[in-house]
Amino acid sequence: MAKARIAFFDFASCEGCQIEMTNFGDAAFLELLNHVEIVEFREALSEKTTEPIDVALIEGSFTREADRARLEEIRRRARVVIAYGQCAATGGINALKNHQTDYKEAVYGQDAGMPHLDSDKALPISVVIKVDYNAFGCPINKYEVLQLLSHLVHGKEPVIPSYPVCVDCKRRETVCRYHEEDHCLGPVARAGCGAPCPASGVPCEACRGLVDDANLASIEKVLVERAGFSASRAAAKRMLWTANQGSESK
Ligand code: SF4
Ligand code: SF4
Ligand code: SF4
Repeated sequence: MAKARIAFFDFASCEGCQIEMTNFGDAAFLELLNHVEIVEFREALSEKTTEPIDVALIEGSFTREADRARLEEIRRRARVVIAYGQCAATGGINALKNHQTDYKEAVYGQDAGMPHLDSDKALPISVVIKVDYNAFGCPINKYEVLQLLSHLVHGKEPVIPSYPVCVDCKRRETVCRYHEEDHCLGPVARAGCGAPCPASGVPCEACRGLVDDANLASIEKVLVERAGFSASRAAAKRMLWTANQGSESK
């Protein structure tokens, strides 16, 4: 059986999700390489391809019209498109700038006028092309991506978790951050990571975005009443990785 041809592409991102895959020293990843051929992956290969692809993993947000044609061209060549990482899936942390006006000056100071910083709102790539699956997370969870690719290669329908991080937390019998007088976005955060942050004694910040039916009014109320946040800090906290999400939630 011919190996599935997979390729990585990057748009507005830190490329951390691609780098995460290069950190994969696991035997399961080496086994995957028996079933797939990586034909483009600039973090690890100099080769590029213009041929058809079985799976395109697209990292980064859509931030400028100039990128539309490239996205459409990838979609034409790819049998399956995965939005690879939170920037691509929802806009991720990039989307914070959609709610700011002076972000370039704040980050780049006197270099804020550099032409390559010109960009529009940070949006998910699904605003431009059809996305078949999302690999959530900032960065992605490489074991989840491995499972996603494995399912696709073997003709199974991948299952993307739609329940909150609290479920994984309870499975691990982790003491809730709210019992430690801390805060946590786990009740509205999309699971799939295995809840490593609360297990390490730090709050979940919803780096995988929101569950589909997130009750944002309630989580902000909890942050105020249980964690002592001001209302404005509670609203800002929940937006760190979810600035493009909310209107579709309760
Ligand atoms: S999702 Fe996070 S780690 Fe991945 S490219 Fe975006 S900012 Fe980087
Ligand atoms: S620590 Fe966070 S994710 Fe875990 S149960 Fe408490 S609120 Fe939920
Ligand atoms: S526990 Fe929350 S912040 Fe940590 S990896 Fe999972 S979704 Fe991201």
